[in-house]
Amino acid sequence: MSAFRKAAFRVALAALIAGAAAGAVLQGSAYLAHGGSDLDPWWWWLALFASALAGGLAAAVVVRRSFGGRLTTLAESLDARVKQSDFLQRVPEMGEDEVGRIARSFNRVLAQVTMLQGDLIDGQRELAVKQRELELADELAEKQRELEQRLTERSLLFEVLRESTSSHDLDRVLDVLVTRIGPALRASRLAVLLRTDDGGLEIGAAWGFEESPVGRSVDRPSGGPWALDHGVMVVPDVSRAPRAVGFWDELPRTGSFAAIPITHADDEIGLLVLTRPEHDPLGELAARYLEAVAAQAALAIHNAQLVKRLEELATHDELTGLPNRRLFDRRLVRALAYSDRYGHELSLLALDIDHFKHLNDTHGHAAGDAALVALAHILEEHTREVDTVARVGGEELWVLLPQTGPDAAAEVAEKLRAEIAALEVRGAESQPLGRFSVSIGVAARDGREAQAALLGRADAALYEAKRGGRDRVVTSRPDRAAPARSG
Ligand code: GH3
Ligand code: MG
Ligand code: MG
Repeated sequence: MSAFRKAAFRVALAALIAGAAAGAVLQGSAYLAHGGSDLDPWWWWLALFASALAGGLAAAVVVRRSFGGRLTTLAESLDARVKQSDFLQRVPEMGEDEVGRIARSFNRVLAQVTMLQGDLIDGQRELAVKQRELELADELAEKQRELEQRLTERSLLFEVLRESTSSHDLDRVLDVLVTRIGPALRASRLAVLLRTDDGGLEIGAAWGFEESPVGRSVDRPSGGPWALDHGVMVVPDVSRAPRAVGFWDELPRTGSFAAIPITHADDEIGLLVLTRPEHDPLGELAARYLEAVAAQAALAIHNAQLVKRLEELATHDELTGLPNRRLFDRRLVRALAYSDRYGHELSLLALDIDHFKHLNDTHGHAAGDAALVALAHILEEHTREVDTVARVGGEELWVLLPQTGPDAAAEVAEKLRAEIAALEVRGAESQPLGRFSVSIGVAARDGREAQAALLGRADAALYEAKRGGRDRVVTSRPDRAAPARSG
């Protein structure tokens, strides 16, 4: 029989005995009080009530004695565990009955809670470790990205250095610079503006434009003066910047903008200007890198410009800017080769200023120089792009006319002679002929005629024009029998 059932049995038995005893006492006392006569039914009811009360009291006493103390201990223990969150302390042993079993069950629950609590602590610790690991992994990835970015930048710098210095052709150098730097800097647009001789800026190379702006001059140089005065300028959001900052004209004013001076020693070469899209703005790192790129670009551009200048000096006349004898000869050789291959016609004009010594003597060397410059200008103006006007001697100029036959050449020569005769240069009126003038010899190539022969015929025609009275055109015929005259 279980302890609980035993207890219930004990309670019932006690209640029964107590009730019976109470009833018997009452019945006995009533009997004696009435002298053994019949009892009043009220006494029966009273006896019944008294026995029920006695039974109840007896049951309560039994229950209290059997469970009361231990249940209280159990409840207090439970309370204490919960309040202090201390699940390590156990409830004391409470015997083998139901209360004892509840206490043991409770202790098992406590053991489970302790274990779970331990798991929880371990889990939290593990979570914290994992979080730190993740943070470190993020940091590492960030560092790696930075490192990769720097490596890319360094290798780009190296590439730019290698490629841009491998060529001394300015256009090629500029092209290499913008096409390499543009994508590497994740620019949306990038341009190199070059200082012109008159102090302005001209777009030398561009990347990322729908329509190439190369060659155009920029009056309002994109925050240029500011950048040139203050070094690198980086504007994180160009849409908020004053209108003077940013690309020229109506180009979109979005994203970040940077202008970096390109300087070599004290030479202000120009500006590197670029924009980056809104979602990928230029940061501090980019700014520093841009300076390095600009320094690299400066070196490459400076070298190419220097070479270009030296080449110009070697192939052009300083006073008039016209090609010199060397360049003329090079072009003539090429034109002759073309003429040979394609059967094109080709003509030459030999010009010489009339009485130039007289002009110099009467009005000074400067007046002579000015007349030479004016002459060069008019010759260039009235000839085609494909023609070459060269100053081959003091006051002697040659004009190469590719794909031009004798008649057209004579026409060109006559047109030039007339234009020059109408030229208003200082001292023209005091010249022996009353004007500034030239004599022109024309020679059209005869078949595959040799260079020297062609030049000789043009020269001979020129001197014939001189002898004929100057300010005239003489066309050399291949047979030279009868040179045609005009003027
Ligand atoms: P002609 O009509 O026969 O050609 O007479 P010319 O006086 O032009 O010819 P000449 O050969 O006697 O004189 C050429 C002059 O050209 C001599 C020289 O002073 C001048 N000259 C040559 N180069 C320059 C130059 O660069 N600047 C100036 N101002 N004069 C020059
Ligand atoms: Mg002369
Ligand atoms: Mg001469």
